[in-house]
Amino acid sequence: MAERFESESRKLLGRLRDAMAGDDRGQARLDKITSLIANSIGSEVCSIYLFRDEETLELCATEGLNAEAVHMTRMRLGEGLVGRVAKRRQVINTADAPGAKGFRFMPETGEEIYSSFLGVPIQRLGDALGVLVVQSKQAREYTMDEVYALEVVAMVLAEMTELGAFVGEGAAMSARHSQPMMLRGTVAQEGVAEGHIWLYEPRVVVSNPIADDPHRELERLSEAVEELRVGVDKMLDMSADAEQRQVLEAYRMFANSKGWMRRMEVSISNGLSAEAAVEKEQSIARARMEKVSDNYLRERLSDLDDLSNRMLRILTGQGTDTGAEMPVDPILVARNIGPAELLEYGRTLKGIILESGSVGSHAAIVARALAIPLIVQAGRVTNEGLNGDHVMVDGEQGIVHLRPDDTVVTAFRDKMAMQTEALKRYESIIDKPALTECGQTIELNMNAGLMADLPSLEGSGAQGVGLFRTELQFLVRNQMPRRSELSALYTRVLDAAKGKRVVFRTLDIGSDKVLPYMKPTDEPNPALGWRAIRVGLDKPGVMQMQLQALLRASNGRPLTIMFPFVAQYEEYTQARAALDKALARERRLGHVVPETVEVGAMLETPSLGFAPRQFFEEVGFLSIGGNDLKQFFFAADRENERVRKRYDTLNVSFLSFLEQIVERCAGTDTPLSFCGEDAGRPVEALCLAAIGLRSLSMRPASIGPVKSLLRRSNLEEVRKVIMDARHRGEMSVRPAVMKWLAEQG
Ligand code: PEP
Ligand code: MG
Repeated sequence: MAERFESESRKLLGRLRDAMAGDDRGQARLDKITSLIANSIGSEVCSIYLFRDEETLELCATEGLNAEAVHMTRMRLGEGLVGRVAKRRQVINTADAPGAKGFRFMPETGEEIYSSFLGVPIQRLGDALGVLVVQSKQAREYTMDEVYALEVVAMVLAEMTELGAFVGEGAAMSARHSQPMMLRGTVAQEGVAEGHIWLYEPRVVVSNPIADDPHRELERLSEAVEELRVGVDKMLDMSADAEQRQVLEAYRMFANSKGWMRRMEVSISNGLSAEAAVEKEQSIARARMEKVSDNYLRERLSDLDDLSNRMLRILTGQGTDTGAEMPVDPILVARNIGPAELLEYGRTLKGIILESGSVGSHAAIVARALAIPLIVQAGRVTNEGLNGDHVMVDGEQGIVHLRPDDTVVTAFRDKMAMQTEALKRYESIIDKPALTECGQTIELNMNAGLMADLPSLEGSGAQGVGLFRTELQFLVRNQMPRRSELSALYTRVLDAAKGKRVVFRTLDIGSDKVLPYMKPTDEPNPALGWRAIRVGLDKPGVMQMQLQALLRASNGRPLTIMFPFVAQYEEYTQARAALDKALARERRLGHVVPETVEVGAMLETPSLGFAPRQFFEEVGFLSIGGNDLKQFFFAADRENERVRKRYDTLNVSFLSFLEQIVERCAGTDTPLSFCGEDAGRPVEALCLAAIGLRSLSMRPASIGPVKSLLRRSNLEEVRKVIMDARHRGEMSVRPAVMKWLAEQG
């Protein structure tokens, strides 16, 4: 019986394909399809309902119901049985439709005479497009085979609509991917940008949903699965990264899953091509992904989604490089991206929109270094956007306007013009000091990491480079740079700085900054693992090479070196000894040594704040790396949006801790600065200055706004506001400070 049905359903798909290839267009084609399905399944009624807009479904074609009801009958999402199928994205199969929960009587369709109802969602890759319904007078539940066959037909319909194979009058789906849309996300780098979508991973196009020869398709499927399994095993062999391995293990589990394979085989027996069978499973997984709230499950479903994409690429032969040309003013759209990949794009991008991603990630830091507006957590953007789509990124509000209409475009362009105006205002204070109303001068430096950052040194009014992230140069290459290359680069940096102080931070790799040619060993928790100075001390060769390159580049000029992620006094002493060794070697070899060498450390772990007094006396200077310090202070992963945003930088406990560091440094005359991202946020910068920080380092674009606020503020008053909020037992001083700022106008 099942076999007979499979071949019936294959026949139906064959006829559907003929209908698609025929001359009929639009409504005539839809009508033919409903009639074909009704006849093949042996039901009196077959109807297609499509979304007219996000909330409304419309009857677009029917065999069996009143023809006048077509394009007249509409229902809201969730209304009636059809609306319920669309809302829940689940099949409804009942022998007694009028008695079923949610039934809505629609007199214009003549529906009351039909007892049985089978409705399946028409969906593609998580997008609900409509509902396909069959009904009959005889009161019976449809068999599982029939349900499955109808799902397969719905899948083919979804493909046809996606390909624009028909245009049902009034059907919103014909306009899919052409309507304006607004998506909300989280701002990771402020700024506004207008441009066109450039998909990091272009979607795979399935152009042959129906196949004649199921045996051949089954062969293709099993060949592709085999290739996939071998590929995953190979990646597992090569991967040392714990997080990546976890994902790959999930891939392997899915690739070997019998259930997954079996479901795809059944789809093929029902007439789908191998790629359409993969996509059908992918659609179901995406629909589920939207419903589950459990993070772990969502991640696994997203792994399955990635794996399905890999399968589709194997089956269709479509790589990630489709030969498409990057549009003008590209705005990169991706699920997520690493710092190295982002650096490869450099400044060609006008904006970046990530479906996941986090404000605290190094990709976000790279985006900030490049001053490219970045929005993270912009759900569904990879699904909704097509290559080349017009898009506007509002990195103030965290909003993405996809295919915006004219009013949005005008409003947005006004906003961009206002921003340019604001920048001009900051230009007038470029050469002025950050002198507060109470007479304190705050030193404002900039963070950098690329040669291309250096011109900002003049343009922003920064007094120097407070943090030069040397690892960015290592991340952009696929092999370890040579000493001579590094030395040439550092020379250019010092030349461009024209005597201004540049704080070179030695290689800070590990955690999410993984060098392709120097993978760490398998680590369960890389953020707490082998990173930064720990790598430097364990691999003295690399550290010596970098220190020599820096010493040579200074060529007699003053040099400032800072060691990252120092967690205890001893690590600083050891790093310092490595530098002395390099200096002695340079002298021995007769090279010119720097006029002065300032050596400092980053304070990024709470432990260093409690180091013995001797450490504070010995270290040349300290710079607080607030990004890491905050993550370890609150035990909240800086890359995990869910936990990161629970803790405010202006939390009283964190500010008290920072204040203690300020006091300890004051007690030993140790110069102290702050170079985490918070230094570049005006309100945060104001509070840091109020608790005693006298030097801040930030991305160049923040210097104007921070300076402008500092010049208008009285730090003693801000300090009082902070103290009062603390005494009142408030969790964060932010509301009080914001209120005070509002009162100041
Ligand atoms: C920090 O942790 O605050 C910092 C400046 O270093 P990075 O962001 O590069 O880890
Ligand atoms: Mg850090």
